[in-house]
Amino acid sequence: MADIRNVEASKDGANVGEPTMSDTGKFSRRDFLRKSVLGLGLGALAGSVVPAAIRTALAEEPSPAPSPIPKVKRRRLGRTQIEISEIAGASDSLGERLLFTAAWQAGINYFHKADVLFHNEWARSILLKNREQIYLDVVIDNTGEDGAYNEFERKRQQIGSDYVDFFKVHSTWKTVEDFKTTRGALQAYDRLKKENKVRWLALSTHGANAPDVLVAAMESGLFDAIQPAVQNCGDNFARVLKVAQEKDVGVICMKTGAAVQGKRAEFAKFGDPAKPFQTYYRYLLSQPGVTAIVCLTKNMNNLRENLGASGQPMTKSEVDSLRLALARAPAGYRDCIACGQCHGACGGLAVADIMRYRMYAEDYGDHEMARTLYRQLPADRRLAAATGQGVQDRSCPYGLPLVAELKRADQWLG
Ligand code: SF4
Repeated sequence: MADIRNVEASKDGANVGEPTMSDTGKFSRRDFLRKSVLGLGLGALAGSVVPAAIRTALAEEPSPAPSPIPKVKRRRLGRTQIEISEIAGASDSLGERLLFTAAWQAGINYFHKADVLFHNEWARSILLKNREQIYLDVVIDNTGEDGAYNEFERKRQQIGSDYVDFFKVHSTWKTVEDFKTTRGALQAYDRLKKENKVRWLALSTHGANAPDVLVAAMESGLFDAIQPAVQNCGDNFARVLKVAQEKDVGVICMKTGAAVQGKRAEFAKFGDPAKPFQTYYRYLLSQPGVTAIVCLTKNMNNLRENLGASGQPMTKSEVDSLRLALARAPAGYRDCIACGQCHGACGGLAVADIMRYRMYAEDYGDHEMARTLYRQLPADRRLAAATGQGVQDRSCPYGLPLVAELKRADQWLG
């Protein structure tokens, strides 16, 4: 899931090392002078007839050098025995060449959704020259054996490698019963393993039953790594980590951006207030059983902040205090885990969808898509959201104030 800082950063194209106005929040004197010169159409003359005072000011006040990109530490990924970077790369955010190169040089050696990145020739050439030092996963959404097999092969061929390290089943199983009865993806994995096209089996999952499905998968002994959406696990995250440790299964936390939005005040008490993501990642990496975090990285400043979490563990008492602070913080629409438990009590109102549309608008800045989706809801459902009529305010077990959050959504989207 994207987060607002990344969406903003990608829109301003700030994927370069030098700070911009959006990096600092204000123009420096040098920015002002430079823009004044360009704004007056004097750029071509800057070396000749631009007033000496401006040239002197430009020369005297160099932009501050960007701080170096921190090196990332590595950890053993469970029984696979491989060592992966504590910060893993989300391929869907590293598609800019300089950014990917910086991430690789900083030590990131695990890439999630690898086909999204390595179909680029420039990324593939680094991959193939360093194939044994880089680890990749591809997401498998298909449930049937042939569908899953073909999906893997299509993605492997896009990457251009003889093998992909992880065949990662993604949220195919909504319940433990599903996991026990729907085996097509596992049969596809077995075939690919015999053909030496894959090395290990992983599971990424989110949704209401995620903790139970993850535990059942690990207890089956089939899985080498998991990617839990931490927010979806709620209080069960510790249980998931405990089983992972018992079974020596690697854990890469995903969907790690949304949890920070709305909780900045809590993170500010435990780390640099300007770097809430770094504080959250330090918190996650300090929990026994966690191997790595996968997080979106849209520009160099994101990369610095994310990598700054590596090798900076919190004490147990800090972890416990932050956990308590997060639990006590007021819940909002970003905390909706789309479990659907409130829908029946609210007359079938698609509360989870409306919360998601609000996130598209407020956090991702995509008002048009959010409004389009919201306006596709039946008029009586939009009226219920706007007025709170028929909404059971206390029906969310996670404490979301439904009436207030839905009314606010209607103000954004209606
Ligand atoms: S508002 Fe609460 S109960 Fe309703 S879908 Fe979201 S998390 Fe579940």
